Amino acid sequence: MAEIRLDSVRHSYVERPAADSDYALRRVDLRWRDGGAYALLGPSGCGKTTLLNIVSGLIHPTEGRVAFDGVDVTDATPVARNIAQVFQFPVVYDTMTVYDNLAFPLRNRGLPPAEVDARVREIARMLELETTLGRRAAGLTADGKQKISLGRGLVRSDVNVIMFDEPLTVIDPHLKWVLRSKLKELHQRTGRTMIYVTHDQTEALTFAEEVVVMHEGQVVQTGTPVELFERPRHTFVGYFIGSPGMNLLAGELDGDHVRVAGERIAYDGRLRADARPGPGTRVEIGVRPEFVRFAAAGEGGLPVRVLRSTDAGRFRIVEVETRSASAARLRLLVPEGARIPADDARVVLEPSHTHLYIDGWLATEAGP
Ligand code: ADP
Ligand code: MG
Repeated sequence: MAEIRLDSVRHSYVERPAADSDYALRRVDLRWRDGGAYALLGPSGCGKTTLLNIVSGLIHPTEGRVAFDGVDVTDATPVARNIAQVFQFPVVYDTMTVYDNLAFPLRNRGLPPAEVDARVREIARMLELETTLGRRAAGLTADGKQKISLGRGLVRSDVNVIMFDEPLTVIDPHLKWVLRSKLKELHQRTGRTMIYVTHDQTEALTFAEEVVVMHEGQVVQTGTPVELFERPRHTFVGYFIGSPGMNLLAGELDGDHVRVAGERIAYDGRLRADARPGPGTRVEIGVRPEFVRFAAAGEGGLPVRVLRSTDAGRFRIVEVETRSASAARLRLLVPEGARIPADDARVVLEPSHTHLYIDGWLATEAGP
């Protein structure tokens, strides 16, 4: 087991990288605690697999260092790093039986047959592969093969860390849920460090204690699901996490307010000293639909026009547009049964949940 650190890691697949856009990883610094359960979350192409391969040693980073428990392993081989990695698409030996596929990583390490047998049966039980142990892997469905692949990752008990790269992509939704619960249970039982890569926020938020959100080759925030919801450090986190995502409205900074569509909107916290906007910087406020409501009579608020409303179970998602030249759109959640104004309305943004962003980054210190 090991604590994993990445210091100033950059990676480019281009021969002579120059611009930031030449880097698949622009710059990553991170520390993964020994025994933690982490999710690495971000859209396709943001650099998740590149980052995993740098940790496992399949890729040598263009710049920066990788350390396990304080020991620099940047130049160490994948074997020396002792990591189990489960890839997005099944890696199985078709001509071998399911049993031999699972036993392979253990026999490779020279484990005694009795121990191999015990481990293989335990993992097979967990993944519900017991009845197929004697069959050749070639005859299995994509689901079955991916379960073997997972089993091969989980079978060794001596690895530093287990990394899963979108392991449930080819698995049907119900089984997905079952397997994810089992992985979580396994983490709780063994205390092994686990890194789970996904582009699906539900998967990330249910699996992990801490979620690392990536965007365009950078880590934009590491936090608990609650932190990512309550204080997105970057507008991307606000928009990517939550359903629907955070509303963003462009405006002009005016002291402890932002002027949006002619109205002064209060935001939470104090402007950070290093976050002063200069000419040409983008000032936005971000507020989740959960924290926007229709104003009571005479209360004031941002004048809007109601565009449409959609039923979402216990509440409705209402889309409105500001009554200004910019006609910015935002969404709010209205409890089922509550009145929705026909057209002319005002909305109130909860100041304690209204965040200020400058050039995409949260620009305040925690609340006053
Ligand atoms: P993710 O796993 O988040 O989808 P990747 O790490 O696979 O992202 O890719 C990050 C970026 O690097 C993408 O722009 C991708 O096209 C590029 N990339 C990935 N692998 C290679 C490769 N072997 N050669 C060149 N470019 C690559
Ligand atoms: Mg990938």
